[in-house]
Amino acid sequence: MADMMPFIDLATQRDRIRDKLEPAMAKVVEEGRYILGPEVTELEQRLAAFSGAPLALGCANGTDALALPLMAWKVRKGDAVFVPSFTFASTAEVVRWVGATPIFVDVDPETYTMDVAHLEACMDMVRKDPELTPRAVIAVDLFGQPADYPAIKALCDKDGLKLIADSAQGFGCTLNGQHPIHWADVATISFYPAKPLGCYGDGGAIVLKDEGLYELLRSLHVHGSGKERYEYARIGLNSRLDTIQAAILLAKLDIFQDEIDARNRAADGYAAGFGDLVRPHKVIEGGISTWAQYTLEVEDRDGFRKTLADHGIPTAVYYPWPLHDQPAYAGSPASPGGLPVTERISHHVVSLPMDAYLEGERLDRVVKAVRAALG
Ligand SMILES: *Cc1c(COP(=O)(O)O)cnc(C)c1O
Repeated sequence: MADMMPFIDLATQRDRIRDKLEPAMAKVVEEGRYILGPEVTELEQRLAAFSGAPLALGCANGTDALALPLMAWKVRKGDAVFVPSFTFASTAEVVRWVGATPIFVDVDPETYTMDVAHLEACMDMVRKDPELTPRAVIAVDLFGQPADYPAIKALCDKDGLKLIADSAQGFGCTLNGQHPIHWADVATISFYPAKPLGCYGDGGAIVLKDEGLYELLRSLHVHGSGKERYEYARIGLNSRLDTIQAAILLAKLDIFQDEIDARNRAADGYAAGFGDLVRPHKVIEGGISTWAQYTLEVEDRDGFRKTLADHGIPTAVYYPWPLHDQPAYAGSPASPGGLPVTERISHHVVSLPMDAYLEGERLDRVVKAVRAALG
C-alpha cells in the first residue's frame, strides 16, 4: 500500500510562515498579556477590515461564536431558529443551548447550502404554529461557499428575523464580491486547526455591524461583565480568544487571501484532472469559495474510498448522518416534506484532500487515484 498523504497539509504552511510565527509567539510569552492582549484587538480589527465590516470580536471557538448572538438577542424557549441539517453539529446545538427549537431546512442538491424554497416552506409551517415564534436563520457557508444570502435575507426581512452566517468553514468567501456579513447580522468564524483559517488550538470570532450588539457580545463573552470589574450586568460565558492564538492568526491572515486563491487553483486542477468523470458540488453563481472541502458524490462510496486508500489518498465523509436524524435532536418538529436531499446526499458525499499547498505531484496523485476508482 502506498504512503498515505495528509488530508490537509498544515506542515507546508507552518514552514512558510515559521519566521513570523516563532517571534510572534515568543513575544506573547515574553510580554505576559495572555488574556485579551494587544494581538487580540489587532486581529479583531484586521478580521473586520478583511470582510468589509466595522466590527469583530474574538471568542473561544466557532460554536460560542454562534451561541453568543443568540444569547444577545435573548432567543429562548418557544423561539424557532431555522438551520440546515446537513452541517456540523454546532449549527443546531447552540439553538438547543438557549432552549429554542431548531427547524431543520433541506439543502440545495447542487450547492449543498440552505434550500431557499424549503426555508420558505418551513417559515410558513412555523407561522401557523401557535407554540413557536420565528426568530432567526443560521445559514451555513458549507464547504467554504456562500449560502444564497440575497434570497435568504429577503425572507428574513419579511418576518423581521435575525440572520447569522455560520462562516466557520467559509470565512473569506464572497458572493458578487461581498462577504456574507454584507447581508447577515453577524458572521461567525471558527479557527479550529483544520478550517481554512485555523489556529493552533481552539478559537473563534464574530464579525458584525451593529455597535449596540457589539457591546452586548463583548459583555457576554466575559461573564456578562458590566462597566466595572467584577460588576455583572447579565449571565454570560467565559469565551475569550487566547492572545497566543491571535498572534498565530495574524501571521496566517497575512497569507490568507493568497491561500484562498491557491485553493481555487487546486480545485481547478482537480476539475481539469477528472471533471470528465465526476464534478464536485457546484459553487453558487457569482460566488467564490474558500474550498474548505472538495466534495464529490459517488455511487459506491465505500468502494471509492477503498481504491483511494490503496493509492495512499485519504478521504473523509462530511457528513454521514444528518443532524435531524440523530438521537440528540429527536423530538424536533418534522419539516414540511422532510429533508430528501440531505438524506440522499449523506449516503454519497466524499471529500478529497484540499489545502492551499495542493499542487504538482501531490495533486496528480489524487487525480490518478480518482480516475482509477471511476474510470
Ligand atoms: C467547525 C464548525 C463550527 C464550530 O466551530 P468550533 O470552532 O469547532 O466550535 C460551526 N459550524 C460549522 C459549519 C463548522 O464547520
